[in-house]
Amino acid sequence: MMEVELVGNAFCLDFTNTVNARPVARRDWLSTPEEALTWAAATGHPLQQIGDPAEDSAPETRDLRDLAAAREFRETVFRVFQPVAHGGSAPQEGLDRILAVYGEGVTQGHLSGQDGNFRLEWAPPRTVRVLMWEAATSAMELLTHGPLDRLGECPSCCWLFLDVSKNRRRRWCSMTTCGSRDKSRRYYSGKG
Ligand SMILES: [Zn+2]
Repeated sequence: MMEVELVGNAFCLDFTNTVNARPVARRDWLSTPEEALTWAAATGHPLQQIGDPAEDSAPETRDLRDLAAAREFRETVFRVFQPVAHGGSAPQEGLDRILAVYGEGVTQGHLSGQDGNFRLEWAPPRTVRVLMWEAATSAMELLTHGPLDRLGECPSCCWLFLDVSKNRRRRWCSMTTCGSRDKSRRYYSGKG
């Protein structure tokens, strides 16, 4: 079984890294309800239920539709942050979409106090919709508070991450996967 890798240092970035490579993914944690459950549990945002039970449709249809929406939102988050990682600007339609999903989350959520701070929370059950609202909230925080100057994209797999290292020289999603692959590639091609 594949392990869930979390290298983003922000929930919205881990959310957008649920595919292992772009444009052609060989691994997608949001492809089936079972995988989404595994991924969400590993990120500390566990799901109790995939679809929204308030909606009047068969559970399987609901699950697949909600996952499709989550996958679409994941690409929106990628479209917004990927150019920013290279000093470019985010597309307006993507920003509008993040704001819209965040707005939906705000109207459905409530503020809950914890450790002296407050944060947006949602009444159970935790569904894929809640996961999207959490990703949108995280994206809003990153957009409005940064640190966007620490945003990077792995040149090998296109994963996005915040470089929280002291010297700000992180290049790869992780040294153990893409970093070491590149190192051995250069070694074997004699460019060490
Ligand atoms: Zn990578």
